[in-house]
Amino acid sequence: MAEARIVLEGKNALVTGGNRGIGLEIARSLANAGAKVWVTTRTRSNDCEFEPLLCDFENNEQVIDLAKKIRKLRVDILVNNAGINKIAKFEEIELADWDRIHQINLRAPFQLCQAVLPSMLQNNWGRIVNIASIFGKVSKECRASYSSSKFGLDGLTAALAAEVASRNILANTVSPGFVDTELTRTVLSSEDIANLTALVPMKRLCLPSEIGQAVLWLSSPLNTFISGQNIIVDGGFTRV
Ligand code: NDP
Repeated sequence: MAEARIVLEGKNALVTGGNRGIGLEIARSLANAGAKVWVTTRTRSNDCEFEPLLCDFENNEQVIDLAKKIRKLRVDILVNNAGINKIAKFEEIELADWDRIHQINLRAPFQLCQAVLPSMLQNNWGRIVNIASIFGKVSKECRASYSSSKFGLDGLTAALAAEVASRNILANTVSPGFVDTELTRTVLSSEDIANLTALVPMKRLCLPSEIGQAVLWLSSPLNTFISGQNIIVDGGFTRV
């Protein structure tokens, strides 16, 4: 059987937080398949690989402004990837941190999903992928703010998918496990990483490009019937 090649020529894609980390690899995967890619970032810099749209999701006026711009771009593929985390004991969580995490991880993605829907509905075609986390599927101590935002993002995805699937707009969650990013290497020592990967059936961290490949497939015309799902990309970690 001939190998199916993913072609996204003629498709417009927007990846939030696509200037670095996992988002950059997602943007590269979509661009390599031929999509025109925009990314959101907070920093004005000349070395952005993709056309940047400046927006700080903490600032609701900026998000509303971005949503207005997006309505004009005819986005076919939206990937809500930007996200933050702050680890804190339950009784020590500051309301301001709780709000910031929910604003960036849940409220802004909701606003951007709303912004891309009119053109997707008009075209009877759209793909939305929301990046959650294994901690939006299971949880652990000190993750209440992050986990609730990511469980919420998955709930939003399921409800949205139910509403728009009949119009050929497929929305899914992708939940990464432990990914080998600069951030992971800064936060965790080599010993921490060795202890962690020992618990992963594949015995290694996930590469950002492996998240990119999962998102690429779900965003592509090859995906014709997967909708409302939470695809866990964690080397088997949450299944043992
Ligand atoms: P990074 O910390 O490397 O990057 C975070 C991204 O979010 C950046 O692109 C950044 O954009 C954007 N961002 C942060 N704050 C804001 C803000 N206030 N407004 C707008 N954008 C913002 O994260 P990762 O690449 O590691 O993570 C990407 C996604 O994957 C996140 O949703 C995260 O929760 C999820 N994830 C990551 C895992 C991991 O192991 N790394 C595991 C599971 C899930 P910029 O700085 O350019 O403005």
